[in-house]
Amino acid sequence: MFRNDGFDDHESATWVHDAATGLCAVIAVHSTALGPAMGGCRLWHYPTPDAALTDALRLSRGMSLKNAMAGLPLGGGKAVILGPLRGDRAAAFAAFGAAVDRLGGRYVTAEDVGVSVQDMAAAATRTRHVSGLTAAGGVGGDPSPFTARGVLRGIEAAVRHALGRDDLDGLSVAVQGVGHVGAELCALLAARGTRLTVADTNAAQLAQVCARTGANAVGRDEILQADVDVLAPCALGGAITSDVAQGLRARVVAGAANNQLGDAGAGGILRRRGITYVPDYVLNAGGIIAVAAEYLGSGSEATVLADIDAIGPRVSDLLSLAQAEGTAPELLADRRAAQIIANAR
Ligand code: NAD
Repeated sequence: MFRNDGFDDHESATWVHDAATGLCAVIAVHSTALGPAMGGCRLWHYPTPDAALTDALRLSRGMSLKNAMAGLPLGGGKAVILGPLRGDRAAAFAAFGAAVDRLGGRYVTAEDVGVSVQDMAAAATRTRHVSGLTAAGGVGGDPSPFTARGVLRGIEAAVRHALGRDDLDGLSVAVQGVGHVGAELCALLAARGTRLTVADTNAAQLAQVCARTGANAVGRDEILQADVDVLAPCALGGAITSDVAQGLRARVVAGAANNQLGDAGAGGILRRRGITYVPDYVLNAGGIIAVAAEYLGSGSEATVLADIDAIGPRVSDLLSLAQAEGTAPELLADRRAAQIIANAR
């Protein structure tokens, strides 16, 4: 962990193994300065255990920044399960829940890529430090629709800032990845009159979204260079490499995926090319705002939705200030979030 690029002063990383189910996982806790470290659990096929650790550490750090920027009384953590799971999936998630429980509430889990509400219900048989289970009174449950709502608010703000437009009618938006969040986002954007271009490696999922929203499907290699106003990366992280940034035709990049910038040079290239990049963790906090309210027992549906809608003004402020300072929005956001965490420490 100490030598890993994603270390960044993590408090801990715990390797988890359960012999009965074959579960292998990493639970990374970046910071508990603001409260229990909360962040989703990802199930993914990693080429090596080191790659899983790197992903857990990067995502966990991102959760610290995201939770701080969203004003939540929560630190940052993340779990990754090394797929594929063989055998009884519910038993594996129950074993994962037991591992979460052994951390005594320092880490609180929820859904991320590859993990469903049923999986979290299985984890909840062994721990209470889990969220995203039920939408009691409209709060919590599957975080994806809440994430999509926040992303929409951020896109509106970025479009106002970069293109000087108050509505999305007729705007063209490319969505890379139409899974849980991407599909919800497409539905919201279609209802606002945008012209959608979409791609997904899952053909069935892609066809369903196109049928529902009238979106135009393109290949996975074409989506990032689509000639559109807004590009919304909603698949996995690292999509915007320096090469991609160089050829990008969109004027705004604003999507749900965590860790979108694929290398250290990508953000600078976007900025030099006059492309507005909205830092991912500022934009995609809607889901964590909802599951945090569920876990903490704080807030009603109305207050949760208001908190998610506040992502719009937060993005506007950040983009305006970054422009005034001549700084990249992602650097300004990192600085602000780090300051909030440092003050709490
Ligand atoms: P998901 O697994 O439901 O959807 C991801 C989709 O991307 C899948 O349909 C997959 O087939 C597709 N995909 C993968 N690689 C692709 C590629 N190269 N090109 C095109 N499509 C590709 O996951 P999700 O829950 O919708 O999350 C999407 C992203 O948003 C992730 O990065 C996640 O960490 C982030 N995020 C999700 C939430 C949430 O509430 N679910 C919250 C914050 C951030």
